[in-house]
Amino acid sequence: MYLCFDIGGTNIKTGVFSPDGTLIEKASTKTPSDYEGIVRAIIETAEKFKGFEACAIAVPGTCAPNEGQVIFCPNLTALNGKNLKKDVQDILKTPIYLENDGNMAALGEYFFYEKNRIKNMIFLTLGTGLGGGAVLNGELLTSDISMFEAGHINIDPEGRRCGCGKRGCLETYVSVGGLLRTYNSLSSGTEELDSANKVYNLYKAGDKVAALAYEVLGGYLAIGMATLSNILVPQKIKIGGGLSEMADAFLPNTYKVFSRHVYPSYRDRVSIELSSLKNNAGLSGCAAMCISKK
Ligand SMILES: [Zn+2]
Repeated sequence: MYLCFDIGGTNIKTGVFSPDGTLIEKASTKTPSDYEGIVRAIIETAEKFKGFEACAIAVPGTCAPNEGQVIFCPNLTALNGKNLKKDVQDILKTPIYLENDGNMAALGEYFFYEKNRIKNMIFLTLGTGLGGGAVLNGELLTSDISMFEAGHINIDPEGRRCGCGKRGCLETYVSVGGLLRTYNSLSSGTEELDSANKVYNLYKAGDKVAALAYEVLGGYLAIGMATLSNILVPQKIKIGGGLSEMADAFLPNTYKVFSRHVYPSYRDRVSIELSSLKNNAGLSGCAAMCISKK
């Protein structure tokens, strides 16, 4: 049995998985605002599921997977600088694996859906931000520091201000916030929208501004994908996260712009697909990590 945690800025999701990777039980609790509270929430859950072999934790930011330090979580600063792996391992006395949540999701998608088919894959999660990970030669791309901050690929040096402190990051265009910024700037004068669902409903109703906002998002996404493909040459780029459920609104433009911008020799090697894992990508990735490390 494996115990998995996907720590987000709002909720901590817990999943208990059987040795073959089947999700047996799932729970969610509000993320405590302080570090001690987060550790306590993990320990209390672990005490309910005695007898698990290993535990994996996905964190919403940059971390040092081996050493166990969380380096920087922009939306959950209580974790910054803390050695979460060590602090949990000292109490639970079982192996603990730590990784960035986008990396975990990439591993989950690969392990449960693609590992018998392909060797190289990129996974992008489109939600509040833009995260992801890469699997190369069947292994998650990682190091002494978690890798693949695809959301912060620079698209426009003079562009929109990003939460990371820089300007023009891909995430400022390709995320829920990015979509809203684009829509609201295009529809100046009318009411500002505050949810992606509202933009999507307008799109479905034939609104031209909403359609254009998705086209812009799809185009920037394609440029990011082309940049990543020129370096890593994945066989597939898979898209998950909340915005992927609106893919009909932006993916046609992504295909078009991608084939224009990707290096010609790679164009026919890379296919773009939607993720098979839905809401549980991060937790499934944690389970995949426990199984792979066995
Ligand atoms: Zn940034």
